Amino acid sequence: MIIQLKEDISEKQKQSLIQEVNEIGYKVTEVKTQLGDYLIGIGKKAFDIRKIGHKDGIKDIHIVSDEYKLVSKKWKAKPTSIDLGDGVFIKDGDMAIIAGPCSIESEEQIHKVVGHLKANGIRMMRGGVFKPRTSPYAFRGMGIDGLKLWYSIAKEQGIKIVTEVMQVSQIEEMYPYTDIYQVGARNTQNFNLLDELGKVDKAVMIKRGISGTIEELLQSAEYVFSGGNEKLILCERGIRTYEKASRNTLDLNAVPILKSKSHLPVIVDPSHGIGIRELVPQMALAGVMAGADGIIYETHEVPEKAYSDGQQTLDFAQSALLADWIRKTFAMRKSFDLL
Ligand code: PEP
Ligand code: MN
Repeated sequence: MIIQLKEDISEKQKQSLIQEVNEIGYKVTEVKTQLGDYLIGIGKKAFDIRKIGHKDGIKDIHIVSDEYKLVSKKWKAKPTSIDLGDGVFIKDGDMAIIAGPCSIESEEQIHKVVGHLKANGIRMMRGGVFKPRTSPYAFRGMGIDGLKLWYSIAKEQGIKIVTEVMQVSQIEEMYPYTDIYQVGARNTQNFNLLDELGKVDKAVMIKRGISGTIEELLQSAEYVFSGGNEKLILCERGIRTYEKASRNTLDLNAVPILKSKSHLPVIVDPSHGIGIRELVPQMALAGVMAGADGIIYETHEVPEKAYSDGQQTLDFAQSALLADWIRKTFAMRKSFDLL
């Protein structure tokens, strides 16, 4: 059960409401976000919401029996729009393009990528400064100094920064230089990290876990939301299956399923999804047609020389073509009004 509270509810009214819900046999958690105050009631007993629906201080009340509640479409039918400022949005009915290298490598590389994005009207840049690498001997990123450098260049050009946060201690130091905190596939169920990201007022993009179900992804998002942060984006990036012909299996089923279950925007990462450069564009466009609100992909001036994930990274010519095709495909999807 979700009880949306009125802005002017008094503490006394709130306490009496909590008591009444407890008496029905429901456990109550209070949730305060940037946008509203809620009481989440967890319990099994069926009851008539009219019993409490009339009480003072209640704006709205909804029965949501799914494990995830606040991220569910069952109580919030209006899609969530992520406003990054300067006219940059990630939202339903729009097509966000986020492109950039797997890792931030040098000042020269940042300038080149930013120049490429500007030339192609791309307003959001991805890149890791803290890299989760399978091998401890692989390049692990430029760290916070790399992020500061990147920010100083990107800010001047009106480019927003999407970058991975790997641990709680990084949240604060990254804050001034980050527009979207990315939670990587290896951290989707790092509940301490999710709890702490609930306390920030910047957008969080949660990638699906390597072996994570759709429901688990939604529950991870629920952690951040219930921690106080409604600015959430879901990302399908491929899951591990028995198939070895591609790096991961990009589960495009997840896109319309997530869109039908949640009000949060959904984006697709075809680079990690298939892991093979030549096949990234096809899967990106398939993601657009599946109903994604955005595509995130890897690009680098010389992919063969990239410090990480070069095998799935597009060069700038391929990236320029893909950005154009993403927009054309999105226009086609809209004109068909398929979804
Ligand atoms: C990345 O975006 O570079 C990355 C490491 O992604 P994932 O967490 O999906 O593997
Ligand atoms: Mn990568």
